[in-house]
Amino acid sequence: MSTSADPVRALADRLAEVDDRIARAARDAGRDPAQITRIVVTKFHPVALVDELYRLGVRDMGENRQQELTAKTAEPGDRAGLTWHFIGQLQTKKARAVRAAAAVVHSVDRDRVADALEAAAGEGAPVLDVLLQVNLTDDPGRGGVSPAGLEALAAHVAELETLRVRGVMAVAPLGESPAAAFERLRAHADTVRSVVADADWISAGMTADFAEAIAAGATHLRIGSAITGPRPVHG
Ligand SMILES: *Cc1c(COP(=O)(O)O)cnc(C)c1O
Repeated sequence: MSTSADPVRALADRLAEVDDRIARAARDAGRDPAQITRIVVTKFHPVALVDELYRLGVRDMGENRQQELTAKTAEPGDRAGLTWHFIGQLQTKKARAVRAAAAVVHSVDRDRVADALEAAAGEGAPVLDVLLQVNLTDDPGRGGVSPAGLEALAAHVAELETLRVRGVMAVAPLGESPAAAFERLRAHADTVRSVVADADWISAGMTADFAEAIAAGATHLRIGSAITGPRPVHG
């Protein structure tokens, strides 16, 4: 762990350390680290942190709440080439604001959410990359489509003109080994590819389990606290 007293230096150290661990896990899995996108999750942190990460070269960042995403993207500043990923549960009434701020939505888990994102496309809006979030738990209250509903959801979203299905996303359940859960996700990714052949993204892996996710084929990691440090307490 970094011990630097300078907070920007400490942030740079943590980023480099995580990137080393990603590279090592990729090589252990016989994979090319360059094929893996590391998204830094900045939720609950101020936009100053976004700008520090940007200066350190980070170009993919993630937020899980629409209000915070909208607020951060509205802050003035030069963040050319920065891709925002929306990774949180999405309500249909927030679809317009999310679409306006994010280039990728990881959490499409029902037809209605996809339809709302489609309806939110303005004139000439760029195609929105979406991932289908799969619920890896037995609790239907958790975010994500059930594995049984995944193929039908993929077929529905594939018909929408301004959305592009890129793959799947999931969070590892508590109380189960993440490696086993991510192996199931790999099979769910195959299901989606049976509908949309080039949908080969797998968004999986957080601070606690990104090495397991890489071993199971994750292409997009969503890493927060290992890079940003602990999140500020949120009211
Ligand atoms: C917060 C969050 C993350 C990052 O979590 P860490 O454990 O801090 O790495 C990843 N994915 C989702 C959906 C999140 O909400």
